Amino acid sequence: MISDIETETGSLLLNLTCPECGTVHNADVVNTVCSNDNCKSTLFATYNLDTAADKSALLGRPATMWRYKEFLPVFNEKNIVTLGEGFTPMIPIENLKQFTGDNEVFWKDESGNPTGSFKARGLSAAVSKAKELGIDTIATPTAGNAGGALAAYAARAGIKAIVYMPKQTPKVFKDECRLYGADLVEIDGNISDCGRLVNEQALLHGWFQVSTLKEPYRLEGKKTMGYEIAEQFNWQLPDVILYPTGGGTGLIGMWKAFNELEHLGWIGSKRPRMVAVQSESCNGIVTAFNAGLSVSEFADGGFTIANGLRVPKPYADKQILKVITESRGTALTISDEQMSLALKEIARYEGMLIAPEGAALWQAFKKLKAAQWIKAGEKVLMINTGSGYKYLENIVVD
Ligand SMILES: *Cc1c(COP(=O)(O)O)cnc(C)c1O
Ligand SMILES: [Zn+2]
Repeated sequence: MISDIETETGSLLLNLTCPECGTVHNADVVNTVCSNDNCKSTLFATYNLDTAADKSALLGRPATMWRYKEFLPVFNEKNIVTLGEGFTPMIPIENLKQFTGDNEVFWKDESGNPTGSFKARGLSAAVSKAKELGIDTIATPTAGNAGGALAAYAARAGIKAIVYMPKQTPKVFKDECRLYGADLVEIDGNISDCGRLVNEQALLHGWFQVSTLKEPYRLEGKKTMGYEIAEQFNWQLPDVILYPTGGGTGLIGMWKAFNELEHLGWIGSKRPRMVAVQSESCNGIVTAFNAGLSVSEFADGGFTIANGLRVPKPYADKQILKVITESRGTALTISDEQMSLALKEIARYEGMLIAPEGAALWQAFKKLKAAQWIKAGEKVLMINTGSGYKYLENIVVD
């Protein structure tokens, strides 16, 4: 017999708070960005962490990101749209020790997520919450992976998905959207152009948009990487985390997770130094960081094989720069040629076919170690955000 009793998740969500002006928003209704005057900042979900259980409650939970459901925004179990995302493995560098020396260096390998990237985390959370709020059509601009993830989770939820993607994106990213039943609109331009056009249409047709950090819950999904890093490293965070930065959701999300975990008393005050890695063609955050600025400027040098990094002006650039600075981290760029070499090196010697975005981190690690910014004995984590299998169209195999 099927029970119709609604099971509560135990979510401790209280409200949505603006990190810029402090305005509190009611989380029982549909939200986008801060509604206070012209603030328009990304909103952060706030939880009642004082009433949370001890971390031993995690024992025996499913090996997905929903094991942290008290710290995710969905109130009713039946609204959770899951395909098994999260709780991805930590894989140490095994054979390329001539580069890692006395550093312990790990990948957090996100390539096994549904649709082959960590976008699954964000879209599982956002689509679940949209379902809970009764939304029937969701639209997004995408550089590739977010579109596929939205399409899959929307298919699972019975929600209509509309995806705006640059024409230049490899075919597999387009085909998966169509296979999952999304409406795909190909745009002659970059993700910023897609964002502008989808926004016009969304306003006309009443679609809900889940554009990066203009919707509050993708951040919550990506935040779970921070919870996992803590749990999988036995509640001791690494010294350095390298992150391939597009819109910055993962970077901001991990930082938010660490603060929540400290509030819970599950970790101490030690934080990793957070490193934002960008492509040479899209280097707005690196330029701003090096100039000591708190906002970035539009920067688009055109095509990169790491399409997830082609975000000319991240919406939450202020928050990204704040995390880098607060963590005493740094920011650097890697060329497409170097990404391609790194992708091949990791495949050949480590047996992992990682995304070019992840491959950029391997070169960044080498640079930072050579510059002694990464010091002897420090534990380093690189987030391989996606599967290399989706990018092979742009990789010359020799
Ligand atoms: C989207 C994406 C990124 C960048 O993630 P943000 O959260 O936008 O910073 C990095 N790598 C891959 C594979 C992606 O799909
Ligand atoms: Zn605000």
